[in-house]
Amino acid sequence: MNKGKIKLGLIGGGPNSFIGIVHRIAAYMGEQYQLVGGVFDIDHASGIAFAEKLELDTSRAYESLEVFIEKELALPADERIEVVSILTPNFLHHSMAMKLVDAGFNVICEKPITITAAEAVELEQLVERKKVVFCLTHTYTGYPMVRQMKAMIAAGAIGKIQKVDAQYYQGWINPFIHDKDKRAQVWRLDPKKSGQSCCFGDIGVHAFNLIEYTTGLEVEKVLADIDTLYPDNPLDVDGTALIRTKDGVKGVICASQIATGEENNISIMVYGDKGGLKWEQENPTYLTYMQEGKPAQIFKPGNPYNAEFAQESTKIAPGHPEGLFDAMGNIYKGTALAIRGEKVREGAFPGVKDGVRGMKFIEAVLESNKQGQAWIEIK
Ligand code: NAD
Repeated sequence: MNKGKIKLGLIGGGPNSFIGIVHRIAAYMGEQYQLVGGVFDIDHASGIAFAEKLELDTSRAYESLEVFIEKELALPADERIEVVSILTPNFLHHSMAMKLVDAGFNVICEKPITITAAEAVELEQLVERKKVVFCLTHTYTGYPMVRQMKAMIAAGAIGKIQKVDAQYYQGWINPFIHDKDKRAQVWRLDPKKSGQSCCFGDIGVHAFNLIEYTTGLEVEKVLADIDTLYPDNPLDVDGTALIRTKDGVKGVICASQIATGEENNISIMVYGDKGGLKWEQENPTYLTYMQEGKPAQIFKPGNPYNAEFAQESTKIAPGHPEGLFDAMGNIYKGTALAIRGEKVREGAFPGVKDGVRGMKFIEAVLESNKQGQAWIEIK
């Protein structure tokens, strides 16, 4: 084993997991991490088989998080797993992160950070007390052209922001939602596993995060209209939230999992008094810069005209498209710097504070809808 690499563990992320492959490849990309062990699957035998397939030491494929912590802490410090990625369904994030942070592990956690804002605040306090590194994988913040957008807005390229609009449209819940028996196949539609929200907890929160990440603005209040589609479906699958920032900027977040035919269409538009910027995840290497009376300009990764932050986030020459794996790779790269105690650029990876903001946003959306579309402050 290369001693210079950061020893990584995974909770979830095993054979049938959706997001596991993204984390494993991302961790590999920057040559900063070495996957050592974990609790790869809810089924231990399947977790061991997975470890064998990856040619890992199967004695580090544990049956539960509790055993993982006990056995890893019993190892000499230089052999111990240093950072643990939590890739399980939402309802497990809080308890697992609390246990890992309390035991002194650095954590990379999937979103949403928890299922309530109170849990997120509790976790934030523990992270601060334990002084560990905590990364929350809002993956879209890792794209070079999202980072370019952030840098251009900060440098004044669009002037004073006057309108923000983020949309996240998917259609994959359609085949399940209209058939009551099939709904049980989707953990995201089960409040016990998903938490209080399906659509806004799963994807609306990414759109919210992208707005705060790229603009630096803080959303102060929301007015939301969400839909479960059927009275016997407890969780939202579609919704629209009007937002207002502390500086009085107005905007909108639309999220849907029943937008028929849509795959993973997250986009963000930010308009200022001097220009506008537009980015769409399904064409992630194009950032459109618009100015009044001028032809639109397309910024693309790897070119020297980009900001340093975007340049650092690209691995290959212009014209060779990078995507979701690379975006996650950039987030892992930023987290590695923090774990090594090196200088980390603002925005290099989302953290526990972003998680608290996200959970407060989700709860404000739900409360606004409950009150019949009232404006609710995000406190
Ligand atoms: P999934 O259902 O595909 O995988 C869940 C994994 O967790 C499985 O491997 C399962 O065996 C494992 N698991 C469940 N309980 C466990 C336990 N007690 N111990 C160990 N492992 C356990 O789910 P998914 O779609 O990969 O989503 C997982 C998380 O990732 C969710 O919180 C989701 O919101 C998030 N996610 C984030 C993004 C993103 O863009 N950042 C994308 C997809 C999913």
